[in-house]
Amino acid sequence: MPSVTTIEPFLDPEHLETAAAVEEFVAEKIAPLPAAADDDEGRAQAREILARLGSSGWAAFAAPDGDRPDSPPADLRAACLIRETLAHASPLADAVFALQALGSRPLIDGGSEDLRARWLPRVAAGSAMAAFAMTEPDAGSDVGGIRTEAVRSRDEWVLEGRKWLISNAGIADFYTVFAVTRPGAGTRGLSCFLVPADAEGLRFVGPQILSAPHPLGEIELAGCRLPTDHLLGIENEGFKLGMRTLDRLRATVAAAACGMAARALAEARRHATERRQFGRSLDDLQLVQASLAEMATDLESSRLLTYRAAWEVDRGGEEVSYRSAMAKLAATEAAQRVVDRAVQILGGRGVLAASPVDHLYRSVRALRIYEGASDIQRLVIARRLP
Ligand SMILES: Cc1cc2nc3c(=O)[nH]c(=O)nc-3n(C[C@H](O)[C@H](O)[C@H](O)COP(=O)(O)OP(=O)(O)OC[C@H]3O[C@@H](n4cnc5c(N)ncnc54)[C@H](O)[C@@H]3O)c2cc1C
Repeated sequence: MPSVTTIEPFLDPEHLETAAAVEEFVAEKIAPLPAAADDDEGRAQAREILARLGSSGWAAFAAPDGDRPDSPPADLRAACLIRETLAHASPLADAVFALQALGSRPLIDGGSEDLRARWLPRVAAGSAMAAFAMTEPDAGSDVGGIRTEAVRSRDEWVLEGRKWLISNAGIADFYTVFAVTRPGAGTRGLSCFLVPADAEGLRFVGPQILSAPHPLGEIELAGCRLPTDHLLGIENEGFKLGMRTLDRLRATVAAAACGMAARALAEARRHATERRQFGRSLDDLQLVQASLAEMATDLESSRLLTYRAAWEVDRGGEEVSYRSAMAKLAATEAAQRVVDRAVQILGGRGVLAASPVDHLYRSVRALRIYEGASDIQRLVIARRLP
């Protein structure tokens, strides 16, 4: 973990305690976990990680609930510190924390008191796993292309459709699902629903296997019946709820990218000092020094943008979309470069499957795609240029 001094101007004194405490937790409970060998192992490990995050109190930071006195306050900088530290040790653990936040945010913002009381304490305790189901085969960046429909009939909603590329599909306890409630109205006709995994008509179709451990998959909703209070927020305003969720949490994706980049830099530095070629260590070679300098500069600038964006969220500023999109764009693109340079510095060792930098190489790529691809972030930034 890089020191907090770079980002201290954006932190409150209690964040320094959070950073130290989460680092200790990760060193004890997350870093020793073996890398999952396949998708089944990754799924089992994701649930184990969630249990550990829950029992240690960290999962509660993913789902801060202002109505409960035992819940930590909403604090995006703390969430960023947690994601950065988790991603440094385990991209899978980072994903588990991230999905608790993403899947439960629409419930926090739009759920009835009863629904929140039923689910949020379990989300915070790590006994209920959340998922966020927006993407479909024909609706990725273009959310207005969603085809899943929700029709109201008397005292229930009936959902029909299919969601794919959904993190935690098959292991989640509930999904926040986006569906069309006013056909033909595009993004103005979407609503958001909480769908328990055991709801009648919800079926896990199967996993979609990634090159790095990450439980991903497809679900089908066939005549899926829900009580009317499972609508989150206002009918036909689901797009706004979804975008608010993504805007808010985007800086945490940037934080995860910083964690992966920091780990890659640490591995590269260690190797460069230990490895000798041409009679001297690699870090005596100016071209290697230049590469390490570029990596460090990428990391420092990413962290500044990330915590600047999180500070904007925490202070209720007006530039959340702009700053969060810029942080995500810059940090995820930079992390890709940093990880690639680390692989290069490690040479052949860097592409061995057991190497931490190879694991990072396989993990970091998706960050430039999910929660809004880099090109979408560029559009958001361009539209909001001051
Ligand atoms: C590991 C992983 C986890 C995921 N988890 C979830 C999840 O939990 N829940 C969920 O709902 N989804 C999830 N997704 C899906 C993810 O959000 C989508 O993949 C993403 O939104 C892009 O959609 P798409 O794949 O359909 O690509 P497309 O929308 O087809 O876009 C492909 C590419 O086209 C370009 N492009 C698209 N539109 C534009 C434009 N307007 N201007 C310029 N370029 C453009 C971009 O370069 C983009 O990368 C996950 C994806 C991955 C890889």
